[in-house]
Amino acid sequence: MRELVGECTNCQRPVYCEDGFLNGTVTEDRGLLCFECASPAASTAETRRFFILTDLEGPAGVDSFTQTRPVDGFPERIESARKLLAGEVNACIEGIRSVYPNSVVDVWDGHGPVGLYAEDVVGGTYLREGRPYMRLEGYDALLFVGQHAMAGTFHAPLNHTYSSKSVAYFRLNGVFIGEFGARALLAGTQNVPTIYLTGDDKAALEAQVFIPDIETAVVKKGLGIEAAEHLEIEEARRVVREGAARAVRRLGEIQPFRGIAGPYVLEIGYLAPVGDEELPRGERVERINERTVRIYADNLADLPI
Ligand SMILES: [Zn+2]
Ligand SMILES: [Zn+2]
Repeated sequence: MRELVGECTNCQRPVYCEDGFLNGTVTEDRGLLCFECASPAASTAETRRFFILTDLEGPAGVDSFTQTRPVDGFPERIESARKLLAGEVNACIEGIRSVYPNSVVDVWDGHGPVGLYAEDVVGGTYLREGRPYMRLEGYDALLFVGQHAMAGTFHAPLNHTYSSKSVAYFRLNGVFIGEFGARALLAGTQNVPTIYLTGDDKAALEAQVFIPDIETAVVKKGLGIEAAEHLEIEEARRVVREGAARAVRRLGEIQPFRGIAGPYVLEIGYLAPVGDEELPRGERVERINERTVRIYADNLADLPI
């Protein structure tokens, strides 16, 4: 929902209200200013660019695989989960814009079977195709919204590593790692810091394991693989919005994560025996046993992460 509220008293640009979020500020004498005129300091500063990586398992209100896996046969549950994620993504964008009104925000949908819709993203550009987090040059920071913990994390709702059906664990150079750590490392090797994570409390702890100073927003407390105590929806969005503002205010303080250096050995443990046709392809793939493979690579980008 986008509604014209009026025009900026300074530059006459239109000011909108989008989903309850005012695209400007109201001054003390009840005038209206667009963000650029309201905070000239920010507008004269160079434009900041942020990359938000999203997943469907992490928002408040989501704690069942029936809400994230279309094949489970509850399409209406998935639709409502997608709306919950969009609400938190937009809250994150609002938080960013409350500090850097002119920033460019790109939002990558990282959930295999679609985690949110382009038209639901307000104030950011929806990305879907490929793995755009492989090319983060030019971005000031990476932020995770709706993230879950790695496979095997006790009491962590919907925990998994890439595949919730087949993967038992990923170990990179001996370190147990999940989607967060792997992608934060990818960003770090491109010199981009990961500054923020929203999700359940175990996902937040995992983020702090890799990046001790990261900002986090916890929207639910994990009580089991399909059990959590959730913040009320609006409260979760408030927490995400405020956390995002805190995170971007600390830009420059949180260093890129480069803690695991190449060359790399990625060991993948599977939940059940896997046939050769299911294994990652490549010359440097070694089968250890019926449930375990190792992939050797000099560059992180050559691994399936
Ligand atoms: Zn997912
Ligand atoms: Zn995931």
